[in-house]
Amino acid sequence: MNEEILRLLFDYSKKGKIVDLNYINKLIEIVVNKRKLSSFIDEVNTLTVHEEKPSISASYNSINKKLSIYKLGMTEQIKLHGKKYIEMFNKVERLFFTNLIVTQIILHELEHVLQYKNTIISPSDKDINIKWVIIALSYGLNIRKDMKLYKTLYRDAPQERIAEIDSYLTLMETLNPVKFHLPNIQDYIMGKMYENLLRGYVYDSSPTIEFFNIIGGERKELFDCYLLCHNIEDLPFSERIYNGLDITDKEYGYVLKKYLKTKYSKI
Ligand SMILES: [Zn+2]
Repeated sequence: MNEEILRLLFDYSKKGKIVDLNYINKLIEIVVNKRKLSSFIDEVNTLTVHEEKPSISASYNSINKKLSIYKLGMTEQIKLHGKKYIEMFNKVERLFFTNLIVTQIILHELEHVLQYKNTIISPSDKDINIKWVIIALSYGLNIRKDMKLYKTLYRDAPQERIAEIDSYLTLMETLNPVKFHLPNIQDYIMGKMYENLLRGYVYDSSPTIEFFNIIGGERKELFDCYLLCHNIEDLPFSERIYNGLDITDKEYGYVLKKYLKTKYSKI
């Protein structure tokens, strides 16, 4: 999958072309085929703007299985990122960066499709890992209902946090063969990775634990039950931070240091 994405991305960027709908459709096709997601997307919609939230650039609705792309929101994201980060990049990297933004947005939505697929397929016991338990328990919740808590909920929501981390992981793996040719792009992706790993960790609180504390109810009970039955403190550090579970101050400091070493963090 990564090789095909890289070929597509290079094909456009080398020719000096900014990604278009054709690119987006090809990218979706590659990921859908490789991850066997076709029964979870009935339609790819291209709309001008999201009616309620004009800043949204893409969305996936698991109820009607529609993946929507919003042209205005997408253009806005390109402009916003371009303005903020363009200084980081050399001439060759600049167009590549624009194309990367669109690619990441689409990969993020496709992560939600994969999450949905994994929440409705009942995995055999040995396949159940902490990530899919957390995603399944947090999926399908309307976090926009409570506007007062929306910001914290959105920041901590495991499905959002993990979709961001996973989309940058895919980009990192995809660009691995050419990383030395695009050093600042590599720095940007690493910066984003560390930033999202640290997302939601505030004093004495971990994002996933906080998320279930806020939503409460049956979901929290099931989550607590899972934690009780599995020694999550024995999980390796990389898995605990990836899933938004408790980490030590020292572990937090280790990732923060790495983040602060990136050029991205200084912008
Ligand atoms: Zn999302």
